[in-house]
Amino acid sequence: MNLSRRDLLKASGIGAAALALGGTTTAVSASENPAASTELMPKPAGKRVVIIGGGWGGLTAARYIKKEAPEAEVVVLEKRDMFVSCPLSNEWLAGEIPMDFLTRDYFTAAKDFGYKMIQTTVTDISRDTKTVKTTTGTIGYDYLVLSPGIAYDYSKWFGNDTQAAERCRQECPPALIHGSEHVALKKMLEDFEGGNFIISIPDGAYRCPPAPYERAAMMAHFMKKNGIKGKVIILDPKAKPAPKGPGFMAAYKELYPDIVEYRPNSLVKTVDLDKKEVVVTVTLEDGRTEDQRIAYTAANLMPVNKASEIVAMAGVAGGKAGWGVMTSPTFQSKADERVFVIGDAVGGYPYPKSGAIANGQGHIVASQIAAMIQGRPQAAAPVLPQNVCYSMVNGAEAISIGVTFSLMDDKDLNGNDIKVIKPKMTENNTRSTALGKTTHEWYNGMMRDIFGS
Ligand SMILES: Cc1cc2nc3c(=O)[nH]c(=O)nc-3n(C[C@H](O)[C@H](O)[C@H](O)COP(=O)(O)OP(=O)(O)OC[C@H]3O[C@@H](n4cnc5c(N)ncnc54)[C@H](O)[C@@H]3O)c2cc1C
Repeated sequence: MNLSRRDLLKASGIGAAALALGGTTTAVSASENPAASTELMPKPAGKRVVIIGGGWGGLTAARYIKKEAPEAEVVVLEKRDMFVSCPLSNEWLAGEIPMDFLTRDYFTAAKDFGYKMIQTTVTDISRDTKTVKTTTGTIGYDYLVLSPGIAYDYSKWFGNDTQAAERCRQECPPALIHGSEHVALKKMLEDFEGGNFIISIPDGAYRCPPAPYERAAMMAHFMKKNGIKGKVIILDPKAKPAPKGPGFMAAYKELYPDIVEYRPNSLVKTVDLDKKEVVVTVTLEDGRTEDQRIAYTAANLMPVNKASEIVAMAGVAGGKAGWGVMTSPTFQSKADERVFVIGDAVGGYPYPKSGAIANGQGHIVASQIAAMIQGRPQAAAPVLPQNVCYSMVNGAEAISIGVTFSLMDDKDLNGNDIKVIKPKMTENNTRSTALGKTTHEWYNGMMRDIFGS
């Protein structure tokens, strides 16, 4: 991937600072606010929208609510000190781009677009009193947007043993949530001298379906480039990679034949952290299953995904995984029309858990909330988010998928006319440098839309 002069300058300087994850600075410091222990901010004259989560969905909603309803006060509550992108992180993992590409400060966009950022961790939500409780104080809302992302569910591997779960997260970081997990995984790859590097794909709905396959390719690219003799073993509960299966399989076979080993129908049952072995239930061709133990030198094990607990705190979660139960296609809670859930925490829609979708949903709820604040009717024809996703397979080439969604006529179980959201997928499984360039153009466009630059 060619870097511009600006990219190189950034890489040599600010990139190191950007690695300082988890600092303590805030745009609106709790200590500057005398009422921090009770009220995070004084009550505004007009309406207040509180957004939980300063990621792809939440920051898009913040910018565009403020744009469409400038009279409203918009406050983002985010536990982290800095934005770090998961998209493009596999390229960073393989040493193709600096960390700087992935990071943005929270302050500049908040100032430029007129919303408030507060660095704090949300601990409770009361829809009765319309109040959000945080580690640094409470804040009332008129409208609440939840974009808190995913959490991990290790119970299938370790039951109620939370210590084993946390040990597994630290020793075999899933790196589906930005921060230390990604940095630790990169260190493991850089220190890897040979043996098995296992990547396990989560069972069920998970964040960014192509990301683990892209990661396998980029890790193999790193090993090939650096002459590391080892294997990347992909354990997939599915029968084949999806999406972009043919493109990934071609890349593994043609670019990394001695490195990547793809094992379908392989569901992780548990992990023996002491022996460094993954126990896998393999479904054989005749339908029988057998358990196998696979030794690893290093591992990137991704457990079942569930919604962040924030969704349950607001009382708008459903099912075991706790995804937000929303009205179609407005992302309003079925229980409370002033509460919206967007991004990866949403369930029940045919949308993949992607940054592109979270961004599109941020735009949609921004228009709805602005209309509600201003007493205007909401748009008659619903706008649906659309997905596009690029996956790098080496330092220059990518494959892609586009998914468009439309409202189609259908029948329910009783034969009544209903509208359902249906996806239409277009994959480009032929890897090319043109798609590699488009990957960066897409990402830069997203960053401009969310951060302005
Ligand atoms: C390796 C990888 C590659 C990916 N590549 C792509 C790609 O190429 N294209 C694409 O479209 N998508 C991609 N994705 C998916 C994309 O990153 C997610 O879909 C997107 O981040 C979802 O946005 P979100 O707003 O729902 O969650 P997030 O962006 O995760 O934001 C949630 C925020 O909520 C905050 N939060 C959570 N709990 C609390 C709390 N209690 N108090 C305060 N704050 C809280 C978190 O700190 C976080 O900042 C990729 C993901 C991974 C892991």
